[in-house]
Amino acid sequence: MFESEFLTSAPESKERYIELLSKVVELIVSNLPDRPYCGKNQDELASLLTSDLPLGSDSTEQILDRLQLAISHSINVNHPSTIAHLHCPPLLASLAAEIVISTLNQSMDSFDQAPFATVLEQELITWLCCEVGFSENSGGTLTAGGTQSNYQALLLARDRFVESQWHCSVQKSGMPPQASHMRVLCSEVAHFTIEKSMAQLGLGLQSVVRVKTDELFRMNPVDLRQALESLRNQELMPFAIVATAGSTDFGSIDPLMEIAQIAQSDGVWLHIDAAYGGALLFSTAQRPKLKGIEVADSVSLDFHKLLWQPIPCGVFLLRNRNYFESMRFHAEYLNPENSEQKGIPNLVTNSLLTTRRFDALKVWTALHALGQNKLGSMIDRTLYLAKQAADLLRMSPRFQLEHEPEMGTVVFRYRPEDDSLDPNELNRELSQLLFRAGVAVIGHTEVHGRQALKFTCMNPTIRANDLEALIGTIMDFGRQLERSKRHQL
Ligand SMILES: *Cc1c(COP(=O)(O)O)cnc(C)c1O
Repeated sequence: MFESEFLTSAPESKERYIELLSKVVELIVSNLPDRPYCGKNQDELASLLTSDLPLGSDSTEQILDRLQLAISHSINVNHPSTIAHLHCPPLLASLAAEIVISTLNQSMDSFDQAPFATVLEQELITWLCCEVGFSENSGGTLTAGGTQSNYQALLLARDRFVESQWHCSVQKSGMPPQASHMRVLCSEVAHFTIEKSMAQLGLGLQSVVRVKTDELFRMNPVDLRQALESLRNQELMPFAIVATAGSTDFGSIDPLMEIAQIAQSDGVWLHIDAAYGGALLFSTAQRPKLKGIEVADSVSLDFHKLLWQPIPCGVFLLRNRNYFESMRFHAEYLNPENSEQKGIPNLVTNSLLTTRRFDALKVWTALHALGQNKLGSMIDRTLYLAKQAADLLRMSPRFQLEHEPEMGTVVFRYRPEDDSLDPNELNRELSQLLFRAGVAVIGHTEVHGRQALKFTCMNPTIRANDLEALIGTIMDFGRQLERSKRHQL
């Protein structure tokens, strides 16, 4: 008897659904770890699991026990000392929407699998395009995140360039040999997925030119101009510029207006990677920092970062939706040409994916639940926390601040008391030590070849004394680490 396993019309299934979901919510609430992480390493975690598919079937209690294993061994994204990545605690309204999304299990690839969802996603995209400042010809799609959005941007920019330069369709004929001369420019701190995309798009790592940044980690427009000129002098072909609005490590925002002018006068595609910084659109105070985004050809924006959506939730926006044409395919079973002529929207046409989640619902629900004012003040508060953290770090001789925070990230170094110890080694080990002890999940990165630590503030409910306590813990662990190093000498 399978009836009770599915939410069908059998009354006992509905009861079981309600029972399972309400119990699981209780389980989560009462079992969320009271620290950032349990501290277990990969082997210890693996020993909790058995890999064989059991023959017996789980009762409700056993299902809950199994889920509890995941709950108590996961990173607690709500903890004030979980502050490493662009990894957010999700909004309650979005969690409610998540249950609807996964229970209804609509699939965005065709209208007949997702009628309401299709219309809602289109509405959301139209609204977002309007927020960005795009005209009516724009379009977009929800994505799994910045990686997918950046990839799609570079794919469409590549296709467009090959088409206009050599009158050749990449979709039909693949890449012409001259394409090995194509180049994309981005800053030194642009996201690694620019290289990853270009490698996957058949243009190789050689096609990515990194432009110098200024002391605030923003692309330097003078260097950009020079780089463009130098490429043209070598008979190479710059076809796209990727500007970053909110770099992952420093939150730095490239000078979008100046870069947009350069891109326009040079006739190259401008993609703005606003995976992190795009959230500033929703804060009245911060929004002016994104001036210039409205002239981009394409934009990546993540909702699963500073907009507190459960993963996955990203969006890719395109100023001229006709450029989606280069990736158009028709599948008789999903989006036959005649159904489009009849005006039936099948969103598979604009997405890299086929089966795809109804993630638009959680954004739509959360935006309505919070409203722009509340959302804006949450963003402002999160950015303010980074300033507070920076002030606290500045006051201590044990730390050196690597930049003034522009968004929610703070990059800094632990400065050993004992200067015979290697600060790179100490900084590298410090975040691991904190993780293993389960007391803090903080970030680490490299600045000009030197190891550094990083906070990424994502939780607007953190208070200044949480930050003070965290910084105190880092100092304690730093001292401990120094002691054990001296011992080893
Ligand atoms: C996070 C991030 C990405 C990658 O996005 P995912 O959602 O992790 O795929 C790309 N660019 C920037 C600037 C980012 O911060």
